[in-house]
Amino acid sequence: MKQTILTILIFVMTCSLGIAEILALKEQSTTDALRRSNAAANEYLNKAWEERFDSTGTEVREAGGVITWDGKEFKVRNYKKSDNCCSISLDRNVGRDKGIVRGEFHTHPYSKSEGAYTGVAFSAGDILFMLRNRKKNYVMIVQSGEKRFALVIEDVKKVKRYSRKNSEEKIRKTYQKALENAEGTFPEKVKDWVIDVLGTNSGLKFYEFDSDNENFTEITSSRK
Ligand SMILES: [Zn+2]
Repeated sequence: MKQTILTILIFVMTCSLGIAEILALKEQSTTDALRRSNAAANEYLNKAWEERFDSTGTEVREAGGVITWDGKEFKVRNYKKSDNCCSISLDRNVGRDKGIVRGEFHTHPYSKSEGAYTGVAFSAGDILFMLRNRKKNYVMIVQSGEKRFALVIEDVKKVKRYSRKNSEEKIRKTYQKALENAEGTFPEKVKDWVIDVLGTNSGLKFYEFDSDNENFTEITSSRK
């Protein structure tokens, strides 16, 4: 009995959120989590896209940050711009008093020499990160030019099952294969690949925002 009380006490002490906040979080729908995360990150996403080059304007710099939930609000923390090309590693450690990390965002810029592509959705690395992440309603948003995309974990059980069946190697291979496909532009191929690789049973939902970057639609069928 003493041990149980001690365990509960430790649990409560280590938890940054109270029970009411945790329940409130569980009640959130996937689309609500995305809508609120996006509202919090919107300005940062626009700024991150504007800051996509180094000082010479030739080499790209990714930027991004994490989105926390403190029981009341979604907020952006640890925003940063990468020091070098061509990826960013986000700092997902926030103080316990800041709440818990519920999502993140970054940009996908391409320089002129890389084809200056926009509208490029998620990479194999992005999908793999989300599959290893086991938080319901965790959101990943990407800005690529005018286009904004999102992935949200809708069903953790399904994500686990999908991850068991689809190794990292398998996912990376399908990505390479999709890009080798002669049909379509690079952004089109990436988008089709995301739809195909996730299918309908991965537990992850794929969304694209409208031009207002406020409303979004789930993307379930590819060009093919
Ligand atoms: Zn990415």
